[in-house]
Amino acid sequence: MNQWDMNNDIERVLYSEQDIAEAAERVGKQLAADYEGRTPIILSVLKGAVLWTVDVMRHMQYAEVEFIDVSSYNGGIASSGEVDLVTDLQTDIAGRDVIIMEDIVDTGRSLKFMIDLLMERGAKSVKTASLLDKKEGRVVEATVDYIGFDVPKAFVVGYGLDYKQLYRNLPYVGVLKREVYDPAHA
Ligand code: 5GP
Repeated sequence: MNQWDMNNDIERVLYSEQDIAEAAERVGKQLAADYEGRTPIILSVLKGAVLWTVDVMRHMQYAEVEFIDVSSYNGGIASSGEVDLVTDLQTDIAGRDVIIMEDIVDTGRSLKFMIDLLMERGAKSVKTASLLDKKEGRVVEATVDYIGFDVPKAFVVGYGLDYKQLYRNLPYVGVLKREVYDPAHA
């Protein structure tokens, strides 16, 4: 077994590369239909949603893309409860239709923070498309309008999602082995 292989750290694969490609096409085509005749701003949430954003937007028509960075995790596996705006978006969204692209919605705090911010700034509409929806984790009310997959309450990595900045480049989403983040469990 090659020791220098990220796949060894994964307990099980939840969504394969093929599953994700199909979900991106389904969501992208739905967005293309729903936004026909309009030019929405796709707001990709750094860094986790980048892969999902580019794969979904390939199936859309006229759209702009912007980035925002909010943080509620601080590199661990549990949400800190506070959301910080790390990097603001670089454009005026007043009067615009905005689609927030998320990797995963868990407690809902990050999403609610962004929706409130965008509405305060006068967005015409705000919808959310998330690769994963961890509904069981919800602490504040935040609705995901377009969902790739409903995910069970486990800590997942891959396809944009990280643990300590690693695993984002895995082509699939999987559950991280517990011993990777909990040495007592080795
Ligand atoms: P929320 O504010 O909804 O609790 O958390 C949203 C953010 O927490 C996501 O954008 C993501 O960065 C992180 N997050 C939540 N659950 C997971 C998970 O299972 N794996 C990883 N890697 N990040 C997660």
